[in-house]
Amino acid sequence: MLTVAMTGHAVVIAGGGPTGLMLAGELALAGVDVAIVERRSSQDLIGSRAGGLHARTIEVLDQRGIADRFLSRGQTHPAVSFNRIPLDLSDFPTRHNYLLALRQNHFEPILAGWIANLPVRISRGQDVTGFAQDDSGVDVELSDGQRLRAEYLVGCDGGRSLIRKAAGIQFPGWDATTSWLIADVEWSEEPAWGFRTDALGTHAIGKLEDGRRMGVVLTEKELGPASEPTLRDVRDALIGVYGTDFGIHNPTWISRFTDMTRQAAAYRERRVLLAGDAAHVHPPVGGQGLNIGVQDAVNLGWKLAQVVKQTSPASLLDTYHAERHPVAARVLQNTMAQVALRRPDDRTKAMGDYVAELLRMDEPRRRLAGELSGLDIHYDLGAGHPLLGRRMPDLDVVTASGPVRVFTRLHRARPVLLNLGKPGDLTIAPWADRVQVVDAAYTGPWELPVLGTVPAPAAVLIRPDGYVAWVGDGTQEGLVEALTTWFGDPSRLRR
Ligand SMILES: Cc1cc2nc3c(=O)[nH]c(=O)nc-3n(C[C@H](O)[C@H](O)[C@H](O)COP(=O)(O)OP(=O)(O)OC[C@H]3O[C@@H](n4cnc5c(N)ncnc54)[C@H](O)[C@@H]3O)c2cc1C
Repeated sequence: MLTVAMTGHAVVIAGGGPTGLMLAGELALAGVDVAIVERRSSQDLIGSRAGGLHARTIEVLDQRGIADRFLSRGQTHPAVSFNRIPLDLSDFPTRHNYLLALRQNHFEPILAGWIANLPVRISRGQDVTGFAQDDSGVDVELSDGQRLRAEYLVGCDGGRSLIRKAAGIQFPGWDATTSWLIADVEWSEEPAWGFRTDALGTHAIGKLEDGRRMGVVLTEKELGPASEPTLRDVRDALIGVYGTDFGIHNPTWISRFTDMTRQAAAYRERRVLLAGDAAHVHPPVGGQGLNIGVQDAVNLGWKLAQVVKQTSPASLLDTYHAERHPVAARVLQNTMAQVALRRPDDRTKAMGDYVAELLRMDEPRRRLAGELSGLDIHYDLGAGHPLLGRRMPDLDVVTASGPVRVFTRLHRARPVLLNLGKPGDLTIAPWADRVQVVDAAYTGPWELPVLGTVPAPAAVLIRPDGYVAWVGDGTQEGLVEALTTWFGDPSRLRR
């Protein structure tokens, strides 16, 4: 990663957390001049925050050839959970049919290590303090008084996003009703490990990596104030629940989170876009926030790259909101449902028991595991074959040069036309510099998570984010339209 004084870039990203880093990587792969402005002076994260990666996130990392870096540092689990009810996903047809336990304080440095080898400029210890946009670009103001000129500015600056507020984008949703204290501390008395539920709700104490420290999450008696909590607050809350504070001391992180649930009304305001927590906040139940932020970035990156390179019109960016807003809206709903089910009164417990019983049945288990893992995402690209708008499975296909996994063809974040019919049958000469054509054979089953077996297509057009943009039936019908919609009209001028 380069640390330099900056003046002008095609894209400036405010915030280098998981979403900003992933977006920068995607833009750099596409050859776009991109810079991150990040408040923190290093990638170190105080506190562990997110606990893991869901299957679809691991797949998108695999599409870039970097999944192993994360897999080698985490632990796999065969189930995701909804309101602490395990939902097995080991029967899903994916190479990554599990949840990967990997803390955010490990995830971020690994991702930063990837973009360190890409041409991404990063300015650390610096805040974006404001911006002004006009028809041709955005002037971005930095805390040291510098100004950057960018064609586009993306706010990946977290839930309190300055970019969202300065762009005047509404953030409707639901105020907090409950708050939780969260802390990483050392203990001197062996704590009561695991979950405990009482009249306040559920509390949890877990061992941290070195064994001498514990991570604690405590439901608060009343909605906590906006100010940061102290060690005294955590001690008092522990005594309230467990009758002792376990001699906690030496905290490395004390914070509070709530069930505030909000989503940006628009993900784009002309030349300013939002992604990740800047666009959606919700309680961390089900561990989905980081995951959908990274996937926002992978949806936006190639589209923004094409617009910047003028191979596609700016209207392509509207498909980013159209596709990703509903995904986060659904996450907001499932987190609100999970928080509601955690209420400790007898009536809510009775409802929770029924939900648990339903989720032990196969169909509900598959549906919800598909939703939480992100494997069931379906972008509405119109009627047609079930693959349309869904993730391309990572099949083992055979090409003239030997067997390959489909995902390896996406490593460079370029679209792929996978022709499974007669080699050379599909001709897309005007797009030859934008879309790779791969002639291949595949005789195995076509299986999708949740849906099951689907009819074998004759060809598929795969976008750089791994979603299917067109399905062939043995003819070229609709192919030119799909290529034009997603990868631009080749007769347009480009730089
Ligand atoms: C207790 C807890 C547990 C969680 N558990 C999970 C989980 O298990 N799974 C999961 O998927 N998610 C989980 N999350 C959510 C996850 O942490 C977030 O969704 C994720 O960090 C969002 O990434 P982001 O890059 O969008 O935003 P952030 O991580 O908030 O990053 C924003 C970045 O922008 C920088 N920044 C902010 N303002 C400016 C500015 N003006 N100028 C420059 N830089 C700026 C910040 O320093 C930061 O680095 C949890 C969150 C919490 C609090």
